[in-house]
Amino acid sequence: MPHFDLHCHPDFKSFLSSEVPSRRLSSWDEIRYKVNFRILRSQASHKQLFDGDVRLAVVPLYALEQPIAAHWAIKLLLGKFSRLVDFNFMDRIGDGTFPYFNLMTSGLGHLASEVKDPGGRKKLNFLSSINDLSADSDTLNIVLSVEGGHNFFGNNAGDSEETLSKLEMFKSGQPWRLFYITLTHLMRSGYCNQAFGMKLINDEAFYPAGKGVSDLGKAFIRKALSSENGQKPILIDIKHMSAVSRMEYYALRKAEFPHIPIMASHMGVTGCSRTNPPLKEAHWDGEKNCMVATYHPYPALSGTKFNSWSINLYDEDITEIAESNGLIGLSLDQRIMGVGKDSPELFSQEEWDSLGFAPTGKPGGKVIKEDDTYMTSRQIARLHLRYLLNNLLHIVKVGRQSVGDQIWDQVCIGSDFDGLIDPIDYCRTSAKFPDLKKGIEKHLPEMASEAGLSLPAPARVLADKIMYKNGLAFLQKHFV
Ligand SMILES: [Zn+2]
Repeated sequence: MPHFDLHCHPDFKSFLSSEVPSRRLSSWDEIRYKVNFRILRSQASHKQLFDGDVRLAVVPLYALEQPIAAHWAIKLLLGKFSRLVDFNFMDRIGDGTFPYFNLMTSGLGHLASEVKDPGGRKKLNFLSSINDLSADSDTLNIVLSVEGGHNFFGNNAGDSEETLSKLEMFKSGQPWRLFYITLTHLMRSGYCNQAFGMKLINDEAFYPAGKGVSDLGKAFIRKALSSENGQKPILIDIKHMSAVSRMEYYALRKAEFPHIPIMASHMGVTGCSRTNPPLKEAHWDGEKNCMVATYHPYPALSGTKFNSWSINLYDEDITEIAESNGLIGLSLDQRIMGVGKDSPELFSQEEWDSLGFAPTGKPGGKVIKEDDTYMTSRQIARLHLRYLLNNLLHIVKVGRQSVGDQIWDQVCIGSDFDGLIDPIDYCRTSAKFPDLKKGIEKHLPEMASEAGLSLPAPARVLADKIMYKNGLAFLQKHFV
């Protein structure tokens, strides 16, 4: 059985290697560095996707946000370790030389520029419909999506008319069709408030402000989901939306597009209800104009814990997605899965007030010690797999209450490889997908029984669903 990925960025790193298309590295190449800095290494080049027998991948188009490109920390990081990045290009992205829409379409040009591998045997197949899927083992089927509404900004960022007309170009489905759009990303976008997700760069562009979905966001959602004049809906991906923005989107969807499923492409879960997160302490930061919230570690299965940040799904989000017949892609980002030390997250004052979080006592249960100094690399890898399974089983546990065992059809992998993440040690690149499937198959039964869940089918069958069949079946329903 081949494999599926709901969210990976095979072209992102090679695109930044030069502003001049003919001088760029190829998306087929694996970018390696002498130092073992895993965020920078290739995780999902086309070669690695083939090596892992990934035959169907959803690839988000993504224009690097100006404050990220401009920031000294990123440059220092890349500059120190790499001659594989064009810093003039980064500067020009950072100073706003390119409207985001142009940058995104250049990225698309780069992705589509080499449809065959250097040997000429393997090839990419860009799908306008799942009916175009090729079953040939030398073909990687690619479905396009977009990460961040900022990608639709032209010369006048945020101008509604211009932005919606750019979306209209993709609504026609010619020559490229999009499967989903992640409404917002790491920085303030004008569409909706984002969940805080940028630890590396201290810049106000990344601090949440305001509350919920804006008028532009609503108009954009309505246009994306519309099926007027025979147009196909483009699904809205809730990843990166703030907790309140997600609630507002659910209400809009229910009222106007109840048949549209909710997409959550590269997620983790908080393990708790939105009404009761394990808040340790919160205070106002006048410089950032934000509430700063710290959580207790929230214990989970087999000595793991959850990441309680609101960028992850609350139980209410899981129910909402399950009941909409939506799809949840599990991220392979360590941090999102809950690995490592918790750090504080930021909220806008308005969202904080409306969420009404209050400090709680320390949750009971055992959390594994953060100090993994005395663990072998194999033990650490297995621990990371348990974090992934913990997130999966929590989704199942909550989802079952409303949709029964159908929840097992609503989960897949959305790795976020090459999206500047540090992946779980058990599966650091797409090439390791076969091992990941084996690991899920092997360890799912014992962790499910620890969670008090009985598996509705043999673990092998469930692992095949998670690693391929569920993604394919979802596209067969919603990308025809
Ligand atoms: Zn993302």
